[in-house]
Amino acid sequence: MDSEFDLAVWDLDSDGVAVPAGAVQGYAADWPHWLGWQATEMGLTCPCRSDLRPQAPDDFRRAFRVPGGGLGWPLRLLCEGCRWDLADPASADSR
Ligand SMILES: [Zn+2]
Repeated sequence: MDSEFDLAVWDLDSDGVAVPAGAVQGYAADWPHWLGWQATEMGLTCPCRSDLRPQAPDDFRRAFRVPGGGLGWPLRLLCEGCRWDLADPASADSR
């Protein structure tokens, strides 16, 4: 079974547009088999408990970088809804 895939990570630019910020690689092949708490330990769930891991190579769910955060350890990611909640209301209004 080929479970090798990367998790694309997105960011919102100052205009509130989702832009690619990079990808999490390396341990992507293992995470479909992890239990929820293991995924949380590895930073692959949003604080709202949304699982950010794609469940299949064609599962398109977007994980967002915490504002100002990087893609190194510890990994801190947000689901799309939570990332929008952090967006500047002025820029969210103009989208
Ligand atoms: Zn969330």
